[in-house]
Amino acid sequence: MSIDAPSSRPAAVKDGCARGIEPLLKPLRSLRGIGPKGEELLNRLLAKPLTEPRIVDLLWHLPVGYLDRSPLASIEAATPGSIATLTVTPVKHSMPPKSASRAPFKVLCEDESGRMDIVFFHGDRNLIRRLLPLHERRIVSGRVERHGARLQMTHPDHILEVEARSQLPLIEPIYPLTLGLTQKFLLRSIADALGSLTPQAEWLDGNYLAAREWPSFEEALRLLHRPRTIADIALWPKARERLSFDEVFASQLAIALVRQDYRAASGRSLAGAGQLAQAMRSSLPYMLTRSQEQALAEIKSDMMSPCRMLRLLQGDVGSGKTVVAALSMANAVEAGVQTALMAPTDVLARQHLETLQPLCDAAGITAGYLSGREQGRARAAALAKLESGETQVLIGTHALFQSQVTFKDLGLAVIDEQHRFGVAQRLALQEKARNGYADILVMTATPIPRTLVLSLHGDLDVSQLTEKPAGRKPVTTRTVPLDRADDVIEGLQRALGQGAQAYWVCPAVESDTIREMAAAEARAAHLRQIFGEKVGVVHGKMSGAEKDAAIASFVARETSILVATTVIEVGVNVPNATVMIIENAEMFGLAQLHQLRGRVGRGSAASSCVLLYKSPLSETAKSRLDTLRQTDDGFIIAEEDLRLRGGGEVLGARQSGDPGFRIAKWPEAASMIEVAADQVKYRLANDPALKGAWGLASRICLILFERDDAVRLLHAG
Ligand code: ADP
Ligand code: MG
Repeated sequence: MSIDAPSSRPAAVKDGCARGIEPLLKPLRSLRGIGPKGEELLNRLLAKPLTEPRIVDLLWHLPVGYLDRSPLASIEAATPGSIATLTVTPVKHSMPPKSASRAPFKVLCEDESGRMDIVFFHGDRNLIRRLLPLHERRIVSGRVERHGARLQMTHPDHILEVEARSQLPLIEPIYPLTLGLTQKFLLRSIADALGSLTPQAEWLDGNYLAAREWPSFEEALRLLHRPRTIADIALWPKARERLSFDEVFASQLAIALVRQDYRAASGRSLAGAGQLAQAMRSSLPYMLTRSQEQALAEIKSDMMSPCRMLRLLQGDVGSGKTVVAALSMANAVEAGVQTALMAPTDVLARQHLETLQPLCDAAGITAGYLSGREQGRARAAALAKLESGETQVLIGTHALFQSQVTFKDLGLAVIDEQHRFGVAQRLALQEKARNGYADILVMTATPIPRTLVLSLHGDLDVSQLTEKPAGRKPVTTRTVPLDRADDVIEGLQRALGQGAQAYWVCPAVESDTIREMAAAEARAAHLRQIFGEKVGVVHGKMSGAEKDAAIASFVARETSILVATTVIEVGVNVPNATVMIIENAEMFGLAQLHQLRGRVGRGSAASSCVLLYKSPLSETAKSRLDTLRQTDDGFIIAEEDLRLRGGGEVLGARQSGDPGFRIAKWPEAASMIEVAADQVKYRLANDPALKGAWGLASRICLILFERDDAVRLLHAG
């Protein structure tokens, strides 16, 4: 099913689903009193670079405080320094003398209790005389101060005739502003926007609303923008929660719709007797862990079902995801289809080939390789084998997406390290499959917290490898200031003397592989002075073949130290490497550090990790390094990473085209995501086409929060 994309919105409006909210979707300039200048200011305030602000977007601009303009009984009752709303009678206009034109214009006012001056600096005097005529009662509201013996109100915010009392809001919301925008203009515009608001059918669960004591959508906006009493202000937190939840709900619903669409497309059942997988297993020198077995069973059952699989295999670094993928691929091959395994880098793809080749050999499966590197005849031959179906398992990089690549019948795609692959690439892969159908298994070594998985993918199925293969020793982690690097090098000498191998990682310089290379080369040169030719180097400026050669000589123990940039972050597997030194560790993200550390501790020997940092450390950097020192649990690290970086950045998910949240704020949004995802799942099961009462109401919610667009974006990637 498709939800109304922007181009089709008029149709949605026509078919009646948006009828009740049509006025809210109009552009700002359709509000009374908003001219080109005002529109420009509001556009700047609402900061929506991609789409034109709508009237309802103005309503998402929520107040940050309020002024109490409840009328006071008398001048006597006014407290200096605070807002007072008084009914007074002007008794004298005092013009400043011509000689002192900068002096203020004062209007002396009184009531039964006393007197007060209303003061104007360079105001239009005729206007003031008209607003505050002598001997006629007026309502004035503004901040009062004591000036000498008398109270004084400078430039009242409001002056009204007594009969117009009802026009003065008793509680006045205060809004964040941008330069040039006045509170008064914003108040009036928002009040006008509220005029377009009508009650909506409820899209949230009634029991849940009652339990949270949340107002209706319409009521929530009215409470926030037009509070009538202080009691209304007390309800602000509830109103905000409600709207935040609406926004999260809309985003979860949009994701769920994409997901539902994905699943509804009929797939086919991939099943076999399991002989090929069994042959692979027999060649393994170890037993699978319990969670590997479980993940495998989950994948198998997905593949056997006639629905398309979209499953995330999460497992900390070194937890053994590759073999799970290999066995799943064997099952697919046995069912008669081709499979592809894609890795984000050449280095990693090669490594997968090396791991998988013997397994495929054991099962009699033909494996092929494709990266951007093969050219000419070799490449043509590889492509032909793929198209004829001779190649059963294809391993490679993004090159697999290229248009010349044609499978005979792709049935299962495995994507390693999913954070490097965007939605668009996933869809491109999908197109390689016959009828657009292939099961997808995404593997990630960065355990993504559930909240994030949900916000990015919806209720993606997840299998987790929760245990590490037996015999692994934990990695000891130390933090050392850079000026004590010499001590570290001494320690390194000892370790190498005992046959250990080490990685020395230099920081990545964003979009500057030349500087990266320079740093890595410089460090390698320095280490060569101490360790001689036992030092290899690998960085992003090297050709693929050079990288392979550097890693190969490290694997073959021709070199003992591999100086590297983050090229080795993902996947590289050298079990004999037991020392990881990370230079300028403060420049790395938490998840990245965890990944890097995961390169050691892969064999049976004890491993260590040294985080070399440059002092002084910022608070967050210190916090990152401390976390890493204290735990090796990828899930704790991922949650902490999310906390430190803030949801904004992560949830912004710019690559996915997700516009992010305007109202919902991290970390509150995190807890809401889970609840909303559950509710959406339940409701959608009963109303999958959004045709029932709930579905129709929910369509409104999607349109209001512009998640109808997000659906289209997600479809297109
Ligand atoms: P990752 O999950 O980080 O991709 P790998 O699949 O690269 O991990 O596996 C890491 C190492 O653990 C490999 O050398 C692999 O052979 C080994 N391994 C995988 N599963 C087991 C197991 N059940 N018992 C022992 N070693 C295993
Ligand atoms: Mg891996």
